[in-house]
Amino acid sequence: METMNAATTVWTRDAVQIEKRDVWAAMRRGFRCRCPRCGEGKLFRAFLKTASNCSKCGLDFTPHRADDLPAYLVIVIVGHIVVPAVLWIETNYSPAVWLQLATYLPLTFVSSLALLQPVKGAVVGLQWALRMHGFDENAPSDIPPV
Ligand SMILES: [Zn+2]
Repeated sequence: METMNAATTVWTRDAVQIEKRDVWAAMRRGFRCRCPRCGEGKLFRAFLKTASNCSKCGLDFTPHRADDLPAYLVIVIVGHIVVPAVLWIETNYSPAVWLQLATYLPLTFVSSLALLQPVKGAVVGLQWALRMHGFDENAPSDIPPV
């Protein structure tokens, strides 16, 4: 009687060849609205709509789940710049209210719009570098995406 003795493979995290992903480089490339992997292909097809994949390296962008995080981060960043500036100017110069409103509201609006796309790109780059959601090609396929 012949028995088959197949070699048992134990899959551990070290056994799988894992591509190194630099978090800061990926976030920097995303902030420049470029592909987090190659840094060349465009990340966005519209203002806040990501492309389906990279035109240079083919990285699939659809697994990202940036959701509302870029908007929250923009609020924090712009708030931490505008509010201290407003307080400092009010304390030292006390300009007229109409002048403050005519200055601070457009400044806040424009800087928020200017930061929204780069911050979303950085968030997508972070998710890719950390293999979050569908960016992990070694994840078991039976786990549904969150
Ligand atoms: Zn790419």
